[in-house]
Amino acid sequence: MNPISVSLDQLRKYNVPGPRYTSYPPATHFTEKFYHTSGSVIKSPLSLYFHLPFCSRQCLYCGCTNIVTGNQSKSAEYLGYLEREMQLRSRFVAEGSETVQIQLGGGTPTFFQPSEIERLGEAIRENFPMAGTVETGVEIDPRCLTIEKVQALRNAGFNRASLGVQDTNPDVQKTIARIQPLEQVAQANQWLRNSGMESINFDLIYGLPGQSVESFSQTIDDVLSLSPDRFAVYSYAHIPWIKPFQKSFEGLLPDVETKLQLLQLAIEKLTGAGYVYIGMDHFAKPSDAMSKALFDGTLQRNFQGYSTLKGVELHGMGMSSISHTGGCYFQNQKELPAYYGALDEGRLPLLRGYAMTAEDRIRYDAIMHIMCNLFIDYQKLSDQLGLDFQEHFKNDIASLDDLEADGLVRREEKGLHVTPLGRLFVRIVAMRFDAYLQNDQHKGRYSQTV
Ligand code: SF4
Repeated sequence: MNPISVSLDQLRKYNVPGPRYTSYPPATHFTEKFYHTSGSVIKSPLSLYFHLPFCSRQCLYCGCTNIVTGNQSKSAEYLGYLEREMQLRSRFVAEGSETVQIQLGGGTPTFFQPSEIERLGEAIRENFPMAGTVETGVEIDPRCLTIEKVQALRNAGFNRASLGVQDTNPDVQKTIARIQPLEQVAQANQWLRNSGMESINFDLIYGLPGQSVESFSQTIDDVLSLSPDRFAVYSYAHIPWIKPFQKSFEGLLPDVETKLQLLQLAIEKLTGAGYVYIGMDHFAKPSDAMSKALFDGTLQRNFQGYSTLKGVELHGMGMSSISHTGGCYFQNQKELPAYYGALDEGRLPLLRGYAMTAEDRIRYDAIMHIMCNLFIDYQKLSDQLGLDFQEHFKNDIASLDDLEADGLVRREEKGLHVTPLGRLFVRIVAMRFDAYLQNDQHKGRYSQTV
């Protein structure tokens, strides 16, 4: 695959702040005036997310909501509160609903001790009914993984693992304060494979300080040698107004041209090695469930990125987690004392939320089709949404003149295609269907689209 050529002018034009569309509208629109009172009582498959926020050290590129601590006893206390939240939350699940997906994210889920991992697995099963097959995934930091933790994850039913790798270059690792030799990743990968994990993903990040085309090329060769089932290749999000420690390496960040070359390099090398390019930042072996979901048009996008499961109610638990149920978004308290305080009072620890309007739901579908399928079939979406798609979105479709002239989209009689070039800027295409962006007071606070 040849790199797609992009002029510097195009890069400057399209490298602007923009939402990542893990929700619509973006979480910046959630409000504290929103109170989620009834919850969803519609029978539907459940996806459960648990945020485990603790980390032993702070990586300097990190944009996650986390708590750095050397105090190992914090995880047991947190687990007690998670159990209380599960008991409260399970009351909002309709009879007959079954869990089809569980995900542990962080922070560092593997900060938890083996016995705590098993206790968490038991508590989830005690509080929520399970379907026959459950996709059960966990984010793993290879630096604190042990063979005992792998065994505990398997005992707790986990069958998918995602390893944070980011970059294998020692200088880059030093700059981002995440020293993680390739041997450590290989060891973690081996333990997980031997334990029978069904799918292993590696996370990489492009745009990190000190990265060059040569160094990142070596990183990709290194990780390819371990043959994971999936890759997530994320764009580094520079948000020093939220994460001031990111300022420490500002002078070492690659320029936007280099950053795009890094993405193109990843696409070229990973597809060259046989992986299927999924959405804007995922790659999977052709036999993987995510590739199959792309081929049959069932790929979804949620707060964890791309997902293979459609029509699920998402319940996020733990500090700062976001849920999406019954057409509402709601987010938990983002600070530990407030999260614990609400649960001590027997309340769901909610901070803010948003009730989607009928128009939001229509636009959500349009944006998800762009982000996941890179194509909008006008007739199919008209039937699905019960409206004339071209008529409803006539202004949005008309606004694509410049994107079409620049080769990012192709408008045809039957539908709208995002081209291979447009895929590099797919957030820009989606932004044209976002009704809030024009007057969005947070517009300058999103990460850059490249
Ligand atoms: S381990 Fe993960 S969550 Fe923790 S600081 Fe590093 S990148 Fe952030």
